[in-house]
Amino acid sequence: MEIIETISRMKSICQEEARAGKTIGFVPTMGYWHEGHLNLIRAARRKCQVVLVSVFVNPLQFAPQEDYQQYPRDLSRDARLARAEGVDYLFYPSMEEMYPQGFQTAVEVRELSDKLCGKSRPGHFKGVATVVLKLFNIVKPDAAFFGQKDAQQALIIKHMIDDLNLDVELVIMPIVREEDGLAMSSRNLYLNPKERRAATILYKSLLKAKELILGGERKASTIISQMTQMIEEEPLARVDYIALTDADNLQEADVIRGKILIALAVFIGKSRLIDNLILEMPGA
Ligand code: AMP
Repeated sequence: MEIIETISRMKSICQEEARAGKTIGFVPTMGYWHEGHLNLIRAARRKCQVVLVSVFVNPLQFAPQEDYQQYPRDLSRDARLARAEGVDYLFYPSMEEMYPQGFQTAVEVRELSDKLCGKSRPGHFKGVATVVLKLFNIVKPDAAFFGQKDAQQALIIKHMIDDLNLDVELVIMPIVREEDGLAMSSRNLYLNPKERRAATILYKSLLKAKELILGGERKASTIISQMTQMIEEEPLARVDYIALTDADNLQEADVIRGKILIALAVFIGKSRLIDNLILEMPGA
C-alpha cells in the first residue's frame, strides 16, 4: 500500500489505473477509523479493482467554535488498518495541498444543506460538498462509498452528483453500531464513561419512534414529543434537533407515510452526536 501526499501524484496514479482498465473504488474519510469506515472499505474492496481511501480532516466543514483542532487523528493506526484491509492507496494531503493560498471556490447544494444539521452547522455542507467534489476530481472514482450514518451528507452528495453530471456511482452503506446500539463515530472518543452510557439514548429514542409507528402512530409531532421527553429524562443529554422527514428530500413530514427518515442530533455533555433510522411504510 502506498501513502500519497500530493494531488499531482494521486492524479497520475489514478489516471494510470484507469488507463489499465481498472475500476477505482473511493472512500473519503476524516480518519481515526472504526468499523463503520472499515465496512465502507470492505464494500469498495468487493466491488472495485483498486481501493483508494482518503484521510483528510477538512477545515472547511468546521465552524470556528467547533472541534477541528481536537478532532482525533492517528495516521499510523489508520495506515495499519488500511494494509490489513487490502487498501491500495491512502491519500493523505495536507491542508496547504488541498487549500493553497488564494483558494476561493465553493460548491453548495442549497436547499438540502439548510435543513437538519445545516440549521445548527451553517456552512458545514458547503464545506463537505466542496471537498468531496475536489476529491472526486482528483481521483475520478468509478464508485464512491458513504455511510448512512450521515444521512443528510449522503443525500447532498447524491444531489451534487446528479446536478453536476458526475460519472460516479454512489454506494450508501448501513450504519454500523456498537453492541448497545450507539452508532460508531470517531467523536465517541470524546465521551467519558458516564457520557458513553448516556449516549445510548439516541438509538433508544429512534427505536421508541419505530415502536410508536409500528403501533399505528402517524402524527410526527406526537412522535417527536415522545422522543424529546425520553431524551430529556437523561440528565447528560440535550436535544439539538429531532426531525421526521421524507427520506428522499428532507421535507418535514406531518404525517408518517412513504419512506421516512427519523434523524436527530443530541449533545451528550459537550459532544454533539447524530443518528438516524429510515422506515418504509407499506402500501405508500
Ligand atoms: P468521517 O470519517 O466521519 O467523515 O466518515 C467517513 C465516512 O464513514 C462517511 O461516509 C460516514 O458516513 C461513514 N461513517 C461514519 N460512521 C459510520 C457508521 N457508524 N456507520 C456507517 N458509516 C459510517
